[in-house]
Amino acid sequence: MGCADIAIIGGGVVGCAIARELSRYELDVVLLEKEAEVGFGTSKANSGIVHAGFHSDRGTQEARLCVEGNKMFDALCGELAVPFRRNGSLLVTKTRSDMSELERLLSQGIHNGVPGLKILSGQQVLDLEPNLSRDIVGGLYAPTAGVVSPYELTMALAENAQANGVRVITSCEVTGMTFADGGRLKRLKTSRGDIIVRYVINAAGLFGDDIAALAGGGRPFRIIPRKGEEYILDRRVGSLVTRTIFPMPTPNSKGILVIPTADGNIMIGPTAVEVESKYDLGTTRGGFEEIFRATRDLVPSLDARDIIASFAGLRAASDRHSFIIERSPGVRGFINVCGIESPGLTASPAIARMVAGMIGEEMALKPKRSFNPERRLAPRFREMSTAERRRAIARDPAFGRVVCRCELVAEAEVVDAIRRGARTLDGVKFRTRAGMGRCQGGFCTPRVMRILARELGVSMEDLTKRGGASFLVVSKHADAGTAGIYGRDEGDECGAGMGAR
Ligand SMILES: Cc1cc2nc3c(=O)[nH]c(=O)nc-3n(C[C@H](O)[C@H](O)[C@H](O)COP(=O)(O)OP(=O)(O)OC[C@H]3O[C@@H](n4cnc5c(N)ncnc54)[C@H](O)[C@@H]3O)c2cc1C
Repeated sequence: MGCADIAIIGGGVVGCAIARELSRYELDVVLLEKEAEVGFGTSKANSGIVHAGFHSDRGTQEARLCVEGNKMFDALCGELAVPFRRNGSLLVTKTRSDMSELERLLSQGIHNGVPGLKILSGQQVLDLEPNLSRDIVGGLYAPTAGVVSPYELTMALAENAQANGVRVITSCEVTGMTFADGGRLKRLKTSRGDIIVRYVINAAGLFGDDIAALAGGGRPFRIIPRKGEEYILDRRVGSLVTRTIFPMPTPNSKGILVIPTADGNIMIGPTAVEVESKYDLGTTRGGFEEIFRATRDLVPSLDARDIIASFAGLRAASDRHSFIIERSPGVRGFINVCGIESPGLTASPAIARMVAGMIGEEMALKPKRSFNPERRLAPRFREMSTAERRRAIARDPAFGRVVCRCELVAEAEVVDAIRRGARTLDGVKFRTRAGMGRCQGGFCTPRVMRILARELGVSMEDLTKRGGASFLVVSKHADAGTAGIYGRDEGDECGAGMGAR
């Protein structure tokens, strides 16, 4: 695979934000991602909240990067044409004795630099969110909190980085390293060949400790996966709340929330349970019951019959209980960006800026004159007026062929997604929403598959849901563990009949 000035290991939101930030400079940057597409790790499976920053402990690096990252979202999502809404958040309680804790969070938020925070009475909370329980006695309002589509953001960052010269190489797992005299890293071994590099940025999420260990000198930290299950409700009830509703936080999480997503659904969750395996992505009956109990306590009209999909994500919590953004103690030219649990999505643009600053301390960064921060807006048939639809169909008849009925996605949008880099059914789903509606792909899956096969010039048998052995058709790949259409959602005991991320 030749050489590069900088290799970024991991195409999650953090690695992609770093790639895009470094694409501003005259550098040869390569991003290596083991999955079939970027964003297929934790970055596709989270709550999508751009946190205000009052939850983070006073004065910590997390607090600084969260508040700084939050401020960057309007400009960033504007440039990248990614859905983002500053819908605000309300942390609410039914217990009078919690009011002192609300005051503490208010003061922590003010100290962290969060603007506009306000304590509200129970009535003021209900005036803003009439579907909340009548027993709410007060809340902390944070107007700067927002919601973003986390997978669209990750894919857009990679697409823009690529447009500005970064080589994004997917299905490429880093498996080893060799070193020159003096401890400087020389070569990365990958499943697609070796690459000679000057600097490495380890943004491998859950596997960040394994990558750090490849650099020698033992394991400088350990990643302990913490699972969060989430349940998505039909768009029909998408206006149940307009702000993100938090309960009082627990010692290891922000609690179980009611989230109006950037896509217009309500999502409830997540749980927070330490698990052994970095592959344990199953949802559980226990998780479902815990989430419903907690969220119905806040929004009594929530109805389990409105659930259309469930998924679980794994937070890459570290044994240091904080973000780890530091030069490797043992290897020159190696930066660890690990342990990026929540609010890592929020902090990602600020983390990227910080890492570029660390690189800038080691080599001169010359701005690239041709850098273009903007990404072309993806067409959205659903959001077009009748006149716009007519014009789009006249320009390209593929806009007249609706592929996904629930989300009203046209064939032209699927083709556009594939031209931007989608290679799998999930890649199309995350870019267009085809398959994310009430029927969860029952109608559109074969249609999207036909378009994917045609545009990529492959057979239907070669198509996968999300890369690897997740083949969609039982066929010549039968021995490779195929489970027929939809592939496998392992361990999803509660998800039967539902979609999953
Ligand atoms: C349930 C849940 C809810 C959350 N909610 C929020 C929220 O609302 N707001 C918020 O700010 N944050 C939230 N977070 C946290 C946020 O999702 C993470 O901080 C963020 O996604 C971390 O991004 P990352 O790039 O570090 O990791 P990842 O997205 O996991 O990316 C790491 C990438 O590295 C790749 N990789 C690993 N090993 C190798 C290798 N050897 N070679 C090549 N590639 C490799 C992986 O395939 C993966 O794509 C939540 C997390 C969870 C689990």
